[in-house]
Amino acid sequence: MSRVTYHDAARVFTGNSPVRAVDNLRLTVDDGEFLVLVGPSGSGKSTALRMLAGLEEIDEGSVHIGDTDVTSMPPKSRDIAMVFQSYALYPHMTVAENMGFALKLRRIPKQDVRQRVAEAAELLDLTEYLDRKPRALSGGQRQRVAMGRAIVREPSVFLMDEPLSNLDAKLRVETRANIAALQRRLGTTTIYVTHDQTEAMTMGHRVAVLADGVLQQCDTPRELYERPANAFVAGFIGSPAMNLETVPLTAEGARLDEVTLPIPRGAMDSLGGGSEVTVGIRPESLRLVSDEQPDSLALHVELVEELGADCLIHGRTAVDGKRLIVRADGRRPPALGDTVHVVVRDPEEIHLFDAGSGNRTA
Ligand code: ADP
Ligand code: MG
Repeated sequence: MSRVTYHDAARVFTGNSPVRAVDNLRLTVDDGEFLVLVGPSGSGKSTALRMLAGLEEIDEGSVHIGDTDVTSMPPKSRDIAMVFQSYALYPHMTVAENMGFALKLRRIPKQDVRQRVAEAAELLDLTEYLDRKPRALSGGQRQRVAMGRAIVREPSVFLMDEPLSNLDAKLRVETRANIAALQRRLGTTTIYVTHDQTEAMTMGHRVAVLADGVLQQCDTPRELYERPANAFVAGFIGSPAMNLETVPLTAEGARLDEVTLPIPRGAMDSLGGGSEVTVGIRPESLRLVSDEQPDSLALHVELVEELGADCLIHGRTAVDGKRLIVRADGRRPPALGDTVHVVVRDPEEIHLFDAGSGNRTA
């Protein structure tokens, strides 16, 4: 069993002002799972991974791989393999030598090394390049050699820290599909770090969102999208970002400009009579309507991004000047300077967060 568990694990960097880079992380990655750790730059993703790899101290709590407490075990005894952003291939070695190097150091018989390298090369489509030096490879091929180097070690856990950031956009999309497929075939427990929420959402069985060293939510991509636990996750997951506004709360609902957004009874009760609420509406939850529609919100169009099938309308509300983004049909984009009218498609699609704590209500 290679389940990975962080038990309230913390890493504190001391300096002029101490930083809790990873703050009481409590997280379990199941055996065979592909878990993505996502968050903005500086949120503690690399530190969390390095703590598991043994490259960073664990100042509080503990980390387990399977039933073994690895908290104070040296890196080489932890049975993990890590793929970094910089592949750091040895330039003077061939692809085969690069891939087999760690096995050679472990004095694994030559014949076995050759076989494991051949198998990994086959999986990664690298067979015809085994005799080449890294400089004669494309960026994507080098990335696959770095993966191969990890695979041949047959570790119980793979750790990957932004392994695609050196590839161009098109190759990144292709490679992320290949890595996900490869992980399914190998069935090896994997923790994958990225700052890119699209990458996280398309690759992970579950996605753990970090901010300032604190785990915000760990869930399936769908659940993160549909029920973000707080305003941070709501704004971070999804592109373009969810519209988030803190507005006055009345007995009838949330006041946005001159419109009252209806709030379900249950949600109203759990708001506990505060005077403000943070309302979240995804761009696709807004719908263009005619200007005669009652209770529609008037928006001045400031920017239109035409994406082909869709267009993104960036507008400002007429009264309070709040910025909203609307995803609309790409075939009839409004012009700059127009006024358009929008309504929320379905009150159920309105997300509500406590104006103070940012936590989801109901
Ligand atoms: P991420 O990978 O999410 O971008 P990191 O884990 O690299 O974030 O860093 C998390 C926080 O810890 C940041 O505030 C960073 O400045 C700090 N940090 C990371 N490494 C060190 C270090 N060796 N010494 C002091 N602070 C560090
Ligand atoms: Mg990092």
